[in-house]
Amino acid sequence: MRRRLRHSLRRATLGRLGAGIAIIAFMAGGASAETVVLEHFTLIDGTGRAPQRDQSLVMVDGRVTQVGPAARVRAPKGAVRENLRGKFLMPGIIDSHVHLGLVDGIEQSFPKYYDRANVEQQLKLYAAYGVTSVYTLGTDGDEIHTIIADQRRIGRIDGARAFTAGRGVVYKGSYGGVPGLDQQVSTPAETQAMVRREVAKGDDFVKLWMDDEFGDVAERMPYSISKAAIDTAHALGKKAVGHIFYAENAAGLVGQGVDGFMHQVRDKPIDVALIADMKTKGTWQLASTLSREASFTYRLLPFVDDPFFLRGVAPTTIAALKSPERQARLAAGPHFGKYPAVLDMALKNFGAMAKAGIPFGMGTDSGPTARFPGYFAHWELELMVKAGVTPLQALTAATGTNAKFLNARDIGTVERGKWGDLLVLDRDPTADIRNTRSIRAVYVAGRKQPTIWQTCTGRAADACGPAPQ
Ligand SMILES: [Zn+2]
Repeated sequence: MRRRLRHSLRRATLGRLGAGIAIIAFMAGGASAETVVLEHFTLIDGTGRAPQRDQSLVMVDGRVTQVGPAARVRAPKGAVRENLRGKFLMPGIIDSHVHLGLVDGIEQSFPKYYDRANVEQQLKLYAAYGVTSVYTLGTDGDEIHTIIADQRRIGRIDGARAFTAGRGVVYKGSYGGVPGLDQQVSTPAETQAMVRREVAKGDDFVKLWMDDEFGDVAERMPYSISKAAIDTAHALGKKAVGHIFYAENAAGLVGQGVDGFMHQVRDKPIDVALIADMKTKGTWQLASTLSREASFTYRLLPFVDDPFFLRGVAPTTIAALKSPERQARLAAGPHFGKYPAVLDMALKNFGAMAKAGIPFGMGTDSGPTARFPGYFAHWELELMVKAGVTPLQALTAATGTNAKFLNARDIGTVERGKWGDLLVLDRDPTADIRNTRSIRAVYVAGRKQPTIWQTCTGRAADACGPAPQ
């Protein structure tokens, strides 16, 4: 035995690591290492580098241990090998702006529906769509901290990883947050105390809202409050992000050192002064939420019969979306007629910011009613391309760039040492961004997750028919 071990370790140092690990695990009485080798795919690595053909990678216990040209990657003995010739492999998508656990179908209520089971079910739906991490934006109950602590302890989880802004800062009586969650402040002192309390619970970053819902709300968050939130976040080593609508508030918050915007400026075209200030201060456009704005322009969402959408929602949800009463109610809303112009402004301003070189991520604001987890990430990528960036730029925003904002070192790119959070596609997403929908496999920490094409929500498993070939 001893001689075999020595022999194996010597072989391991020669590069046949799998055999070495298996023996060590056997000696320790534990399970042997799980090694997966994916071979001969075209790699989109999340750094912005052009796609690389005929690449392979090795994952050991969920982490990437080798990645590079297929001819140079050494498959350890005993590894599970999969030939992905003709396929495209990219990092799992990160959605930088979601809200978890707020709805059942399209009925929204934090007090009624926010619990661990609902949050975890949504995280699985995100993963099925290839979204393997989400940043949840200021509407979480304290359960999120237990969920995230468990995720980070376990590492090799099922479903998407979550990063949270806990409960974001809302100015009392103004816009933002969700009913039923205690998150309103009236003074800078209250703001400081709230941010300290929430960061101590484990928030990854801090969120604030500065808006007035087209003037429906009497007062936007005063700058004394936003300053207290931003300064306190920074003092605690956290970034602060803002919900904004108006160009003047974007400029004000940039001046106060906000780190990122979670929506586009939507009241008027951004000017050169704002772009210059964002560049000087290093402010990011972390989420453009174009799919959110687009969704508001419809009485009936245009994808209600799209199989890629239908698999993620129960038939009762489709029926609710299609009900004539709902469509009439939406069309009669006081702001319904304003949304096409708002969407148009968001598209233009996103394109202008991207062109000017402002760092931009990808975020949808999915999670509130009728803004659907996972599906919206694919729609957002499509709208970003429509606004003027290349498919590769949109994919980089949704992976490496989003990870960099939160300094999330284990995700976002396909590189040695990172989690094997991966998306395998049948068709090239850099040729047509809609090819992100051709999902063949999703891995979280090296383990295959059920894809949306293997999902049939709210029906018998076979009721959605076979996955398209
Ligand atoms: Zn939001």
